Amino acid sequence: MRLFEYAEEGHSYVRFSNPTNTVLEKRITSLEGGAAAVSFGSGMAAISSTLLNLAHQGDEIVAVRTLYGGSTTLFTQLFPGYGITTRFVEDENDPESYRKLFTPRTKAVYLESIGNPRINIIDLEMVTSLAHEYGIPVVVDNTFSTPYLLRPFEHGVDLVCYSATKYLSGHGTVIAGIVVEKGGFNWLNGRFPEFEEFYSANEAQIGADTLKREMFTKRLRMQYLTDLGGHMSPQTAFYVLQGLETLSLRMERHVQNAQKLAEALEQHPNVLEVSYPGLESSPYHSLAKKYFKKGPGAMMAIRVRGGKQAALRVLEKVEIFDYMVNIGDAKSLIVHPASSTHFGHTEEELHAAGVYEDTLRLSVGIEDAEDLIADLMQALS
Ligand code: PLP
Repeated sequence: MRLFEYAEEGHSYVRFSNPTNTVLEKRITSLEGGAAAVSFGSGMAAISSTLLNLAHQGDEIVAVRTLYGGSTTLFTQLFPGYGITTRFVEDENDPESYRKLFTPRTKAVYLESIGNPRINIIDLEMVTSLAHEYGIPVVVDNTFSTPYLLRPFEHGVDLVCYSATKYLSGHGTVIAGIVVEKGGFNWLNGRFPEFEEFYSANEAQIGADTLKREMFTKRLRMQYLTDLGGHMSPQTAFYVLQGLETLSLRMERHVQNAQKLAEALEQHPNVLEVSYPGLESSPYHSLAKKYFKKGPGAMMAIRVRGGKQAALRVLEKVEIFDYMVNIGDAKSLIVHPASSTHFGHTEEELHAAGVYEDTLRLSVGIEDAEDLIADLMQALS
């Protein structure tokens, strides 16, 4: 009975919690330097449940446009039906673009630490200090960075979401998601009546200290994981745990390869543009130096000369890069976002996200850098 009253931690039913997932949640919490975490059956389950825990009918979310296509679809197509409105910022590095969208019903600012697929970097400290002035929490999808390259809590972020399908597991063998809470955000600041109700209903059993430290994840698990049911299977948790054991080695190699490849691509006559913040030509280079001391990830986008047909031809011609929509695998992957990850978006949405007909997105793997360079050079030629 104490388990069902939440008066004691323990495992009553696998959808709610189980020992393997608990080990994973503790390990991620420790890597991030946070207070608590909840694992989910996919990155989208983690993101959607996080946002539903924050925003209810009549509420608003402020989001940037440079997001994974599935997240944008959630905001523009699914949430409106539940009465949740998303207001998109015009310029993600301009404070006024955020400030003018905040209202008393704003429940979160949502962004990605490395945007997909523009591969842009947002000044996290600017956004978090601004949002906190209004008592609004900041949620960051840290999938492209992982805690090895960036620990968003150190820059004021309140909640971190992951598609653990990517680098955290690292081998394209699972679909998985995780949400981590920094802890200490004041959910009783008057902006979150649902959290005030939750606090009053649970203070006696759970205790004020625990609730104040990790109220977001408690409510997420008790209401959204349990009732919507997007839980991660323990076998998946095991695979993610195994992936974490090599995360630092893989990420080190991923970023080394990405830098070498980006520099080589920039020289190719059939490449119009390379978006990679490790390049001095990138408008995000100074933010990359500020936030990504070990390198700004291993995702990049290129625009090729010759339009869509040329881009599709490169896909056909690559031999080491696999044509796959996944990212963050040990193997190198390539995709044409306009016809896959961002399919069905309007031209305006595509351009705002940095997607053009001639854009290819690369997820640079941990193979030999020389082989990767040679593969793309022959395909481009
Ligand atoms: N976030 C980012 C940045 C992604 O690239 C993806 C998937 O590609 C997701 C979230 C969604 O994750 P999942 O496929 O695990 O649901």
